[in-house]
Amino acid sequence: MSKIPVTSSHVNISGLHPRFRQRLEAFFADPRIKGKVAVVSGTRTYAQQAYLYKKYKSGRGNLAANPDRKLRNGFQGSYHMSQPAFDNWGYAVDFRIVGRISTGEVNKIAAEYGMVKTVASEWWHHQPCRVSGGKMDWFPMKGKEPAHAQNTKNELTGLAKLIEDCSKTVVRLGDTGIVVKVLQQFLVANGHKLTSRPKERSGIDGQFGKRTLTAVKKFQRDEGLAADGVVGPKTWAALLD
Ligand SMILES: [Zn+2]
Repeated sequence: MSKIPVTSSHVNISGLHPRFRQRLEAFFADPRIKGKVAVVSGTRTYAQQAYLYKKYKSGRGNLAANPDRKLRNGFQGSYHMSQPAFDNWGYAVDFRIVGRISTGEVNKIAAEYGMVKTVASEWWHHQPCRVSGGKMDWFPMKGKEPAHAQNTKNELTGLAKLIEDCSKTVVRLGDTGIVVKVLQQFLVANGHKLTSRPKERSGIDGQFGKRTLTAVKKFQRDEGLAADGVVGPKTWAALLD
């Protein structure tokens, strides 16, 4: 059971990297923090990040990163989003004060647990690491790091979670991003070609174009589904089967 307090059942902490989760558990067990702070925002799926970004762009929401934002080091979108270029875990939480404690104090104590406020204007946003040289560079923590279970099983759990999240998203012609990439991976795994040009190898590019559409329709026909080219719950289920 998680000992990480959240402000609502919608806060997803299951997608946090296990090492990060253990730092959070140690932090929330600290008597200076216990009952005074909770997590108001954990990990987000690509679709959730896209929604927040849209809201922000239309002037109705808080600052949110473009989910398709790609840095050269492999980082994508927001640290709250499961990171496709790494291991599909999320690497940020936002805190909320729920008791008598100052934000400065929260920042100071969080830093002791290797969780640093990385956005100057957001006291609440904390990360255990940042991307550096193509890998996650973990912030040091004061004292002994809780033993963490960063093994293959956990990484596979992260991958399974990403696929599950993607399969809840309806995608169609014109869509782009990680969900489309996952779709394309499954199309290829099911024996469908996304390109005729050998130079382009797989054609897995995260762009739902005409070739992807053709492959989706063919897959749907093969599976006895309505060949409308729209990837909804039934098509995802068949792809993942
Ligand atoms: Zn944040």
